[in-house]
Amino acid sequence: MQTDVKSSPVDSQLPSLLARQRAAFLSVGAPSREKRRTQLLGLKNAILALRSEYQAAISADFGNRSRHETDVMEILPVTQGIDYLRKNLGRWMRPKHRHVAMQYRPATAKVLMQPLGVVGIVSPWNYPLALCLTPLATALAAGNRVIIKPSELTPRTTALMALMLSKLFAEDEVAVVTGGPDIGAAFSALPFDHLFFTGSTGVGKVIMHAAADNLVPVTLELGGKSPAIIDRDYSITRAAKALVYGKLSNAGQTCVAPDYAFVHEDRLNAFIDAFQTEARRAYPNGLADDGYAAIINQRHHDRLVDLIEDARKKGARIVQIGTTSTTGRPHTLPPTIISGATADMKVMQQEIFGPILPIVRYRKLEETIAQINANDRPLALYVFSDHQDVIDRVLSSTTSGSAVVNDTLLQFVQDDMPFGGVGPSGMGAYHGEEGFKTFSHAKSVLTQSRLSMVGIMRAPFGRLAERVLGFMLP
Ligand code: NAD
Repeated sequence: MQTDVKSSPVDSQLPSLLARQRAAFLSVGAPSREKRRTQLLGLKNAILALRSEYQAAISADFGNRSRHETDVMEILPVTQGIDYLRKNLGRWMRPKHRHVAMQYRPATAKVLMQPLGVVGIVSPWNYPLALCLTPLATALAAGNRVIIKPSELTPRTTALMALMLSKLFAEDEVAVVTGGPDIGAAFSALPFDHLFFTGSTGVGKVIMHAAADNLVPVTLELGGKSPAIIDRDYSITRAAKALVYGKLSNAGQTCVAPDYAFVHEDRLNAFIDAFQTEARRAYPNGLADDGYAAIINQRHHDRLVDLIEDARKKGARIVQIGTTSTTGRPHTLPPTIISGATADMKVMQQEIFGPILPIVRYRKLEETIAQINANDRPLALYVFSDHQDVIDRVLSSTTSGSAVVNDTLLQFVQDDMPFGGVGPSGMGAYHGEEGFKTFSHAKSVLTQSRLSMVGIMRAPFGRLAERVLGFMLP
């Protein structure tokens, strides 16, 4: 079998696809506000018209995923995000007037927000709709043309999106390229005007290397280990509810899922009991519950089982909830608590991305902060406390892409907050206005006036220049 990516037919068509989009961008120019609003409305309506098809396709791609979860975690945030973009983009597009120093007046200064041109988007499988279409909508709001490379692990969803987008847009406006890592590698080597990647930290490094060859600016939305800290006297029930939501939605296959939890040693057993109670309440039929998502494929399932077995061998207590499966569903993993997790266990060394919650005991809050700061800066941090001083201490002494106080995940669905990581969890941000800026070039334009006095400050310098400089530099 031919493995040289350079000879793949799709691969060889990529440069000409980019060239066609760029030529169209250069000949047509930046789309008007109305054109962008129309494009976005068309996109929103098409998604809503295909709502049940998307629910079915995503569920089939996963092996099972509840239609409610797809509504709440994908369709609603994407369509609400589009509404937010449509409502605000006129304001964001407007030129912004800037300050001009006294000696250069009456020249005027302004910043124009221009589309970048052609944007490449590479997206992952875990929220295959939202993590593809929210960046797309934002790039369109900023006036760009877009080529998308979705994940190969969700082929039904990708096929549906590709068909939908081909009906809505000309190929020189929005195009979809399908394939796995080989196509991803060829895609990220293209001289886009911007490359927007959502996926793992490892592939993020490969993407940045590839982009560097063409000096293509990148936004990297990556992963990592997002901690949760439960303050000693915080309600165990409330914390367990929030962690069940964060850890078991989409079976933990969420970039901002709480990866592990710090629980005070006095509350350990109470927390483990409460987590089990809340998990059973949320998914009363256990593994057979329609609301409980499958793991995306057997390889990821086996990876997660290996993490559990490694922790068991190294002395952790494993608590699995609803282990007897009668579902016949492929690759479904029970919610699993790993009590007594330690740094030498694999589950504490890599992003889990599944329904496994390691618990790390602590005695003093400082220990949790020190441990977080000893590791890579996380994508998200969750702190559960009723004490403002504790919340402030955690927020001010740690650095994470985002943080939530007394809940999980909800930062991701706020349109008016930038979403992104920091350091190994990512670079740059999107959503709302920050997203509009990510996909725009802020061009400074200074306009000189006929009445300008700047000649005084240019050679040949005379007495007037001396006087002005004496006044300004006393
Ligand atoms: P992944 O990195 O394996 O794949 C992401 C995309 O990159 C896919 O489209 C894939 O085909 C492509 N790809 C793979 N190898 C490539 C290569 N060598 N060159 C170019 N492209 C390549 O990630 P995944 O398994 O799809 O998703 C899970 C990861 O994504 C987790 O780490 C998770 O935390 C992260 N994630 C982050 C966010 C966020 O917003 N920060 C959101 C969701 C997922």
